[in-house]
Parts: sequence; C-alpha cells; structure tokens
Amino acid sequence: MPIDLDALDYIERSAHEMLAHTYTAVPTAGPAPRTPEALYAWAEEVTAHLSAEQQQVRDALTLRQSLEHSLHAGDAAPVVAMVRFESCPTCRCWGLMWSRTDWVVLCANRRCHDTVGLPTRWSLQQIAERHVARVAALQRTAT
Ligand SMILES: [Zn+2]
Repeated sequence: MPIDLDALDYIERSAHEMLAHTYTAVPTAGPAPRTPEALYAWAEEVTAHLSAEQQQVRDALTLRQSLEHSLHAGDAAPVVAMVRFESCPTCRCWGLMWSRTDWVVLCANRRCHDTVGLPTRWSLQQIAERHVARVAALQRTAT
C-alpha cells in the first residue's frame, strides 16, 4: 500500500499543534513521547492539574483533531453527529450544518447572518469547545 504523504503531513501537524498547546499550558512538562498515540496520553497526563476550563480546551482540541482525522479519511459522520447536538452560539437555534466543501459549521437560520448577509459560520474547534463544555456541564449536574 502506498504511503499517503498528505495524511502523514496532517498527523505531524496535529501532533505539533498538541505539543505547542501543551507546552503553552505547562512549560515545565518535560520531554514529550515520539509516537502520536503516546503523545495524547502524555498531554492529558501533564495537564491533568489545570483548571476544568483549561482541560476542556485540551479535550476540544483532541476532539477536533479526531474529527479532522475522520474527515481526512473521508468520513464526515462523526462531525455531522456532533454538529447536530449543538445549538448555534449566536441565535441558539438547532439549525447548524456541516459544510463539506468549506469545512466549517454554518447556521441555517436565515435571520442569523454576518454583516454582509452570509450565514453565520463557526470553526470545527469552536463547535468542539462548545460540545466539550456542554458535556462537562451535563456530567457535573448528573453527579
Ligand atoms: Zn444561528
């Protein structure tokens, strides 16, 4: 099987993003493991003492990268499933949609638009942060 260089490049960029995020949050984290699988476990471990909000940002980054990984593999289903469970941060409607062409989340509410009349758009990171925060709030009230 040929090696997909785009996929390798993407995995490397994702790992670098997680590294940068972790060292920004915890400059004293020490050396990181070399393999992607170990890297994510390490990032979670060395940031486990941070505030709940900071840990949510890390979790959202991990979630977003996982969703992007599915998208790169041609599978939009996990992204569509997450977007369906989030309301629009601006108008609170349940009409968010994933744009497969632009890789952004759009609001379907016609009254929810930007200053030039285009649909309000959100990055996958923004919706992932919203999703992680909402799930965390649900878990807090459940216990
Ligand atoms: Zn909206």
